Amino acid sequence: MERTTRKRYTKAEVPQHLQNATAADTLEQILKMPGEMDDTYNRYKIRLSLGNMALLATQGLHEFGNTLPRWNDDFHRSVIMGEKAYYIRRPAFKKELNEETGEYEEKLVGFPFVKCWFGVNQTEGDEMPPHQSPEYSIPQLLETYGIEEEPFRHVNGNCQGYSYANRIAVNPIAKWPDRTRLHEAAHYLAGHTVPEFNETYQDNMHRGRAEWVVETAAHIALKMAGLTHLMNENASRYYTENWRQGQDIPDEDCKQAISIGEKLLKGMRVSAANLLTIGEGNNQILEAGRPAGGEV
Ligand SMILES: [Zn+2]
Repeated sequence: MERTTRKRYTKAEVPQHLQNATAADTLEQILKMPGEMDDTYNRYKIRLSLGNMALLATQGLHEFGNTLPRWNDDFHRSVIMGEKAYYIRRPAFKKELNEETGEYEEKLVGFPFVKCWFGVNQTEGDEMPPHQSPEYSIPQLLETYGIEEEPFRHVNGNCQGYSYANRIAVNPIAKWPDRTRLHEAAHYLAGHTVPEFNETYQDNMHRGRAEWVVETAAHIALKMAGLTHLMNENASRYYTENWRQGQDIPDEDCKQAISIGEKLLKGMRVSAANLLTIGEGNNQILEAGRPAGGEV
């Protein structure tokens, strides 16, 4: 049980610019943030969503944080007198009667803004323990979501990779094989590899939107994980950041890009402790998917 007597802030107290932020604003903030932010915000046992990382960055907090009771309990540190909390969005639940079972069940009702987050520099007390940075593995990503990589069979040399059902393939001469791997995995996570989607995919506008979503998702995941050496960062940034110049990207597409980016990031995370075992099991996938000489 949390010891906090959490105060519920009324909506009126939340600054307008935070309340009114659209998915496009959140995405813009994510793209502006420096790389490796997953390690900055998600140290120790914290798992903040991309949306919350962006929300904290918008408010000017660029360091590891926690709630007041967790600072006390987990780190034996207390919040310095006079420090003001930052907003994050936390899931809120409501107890509802299930008429069939006659029992009360917790139901997610939304993600209200809660002013409860303090950065490490707003606290004092015990030394911070040494932290373990998150480790990332692309074979782990494929395993997490049951995605299978098969040898590339396309004759079109310009094609970097492809995906269908839960299978992906990467061209052995792909320029950025891991980025392509993420791009194809993102197609699968976005529901683009089912036959019904294929019918609409032929339509150019639909295709452009789908490609933008997965490309942006792959960019976000690699950047937040600090794996920018696996992609041509400039070209990728150009592609994702200059979208306003062409046409407005619908907010639902921005939302989807963030959500798929989040899934990629989560799926790639491994703790250092089990990196070895997971790596060993996946060598076969690596070898099948990355013919010799094709790696950068
Ligand atoms: Zn694609």
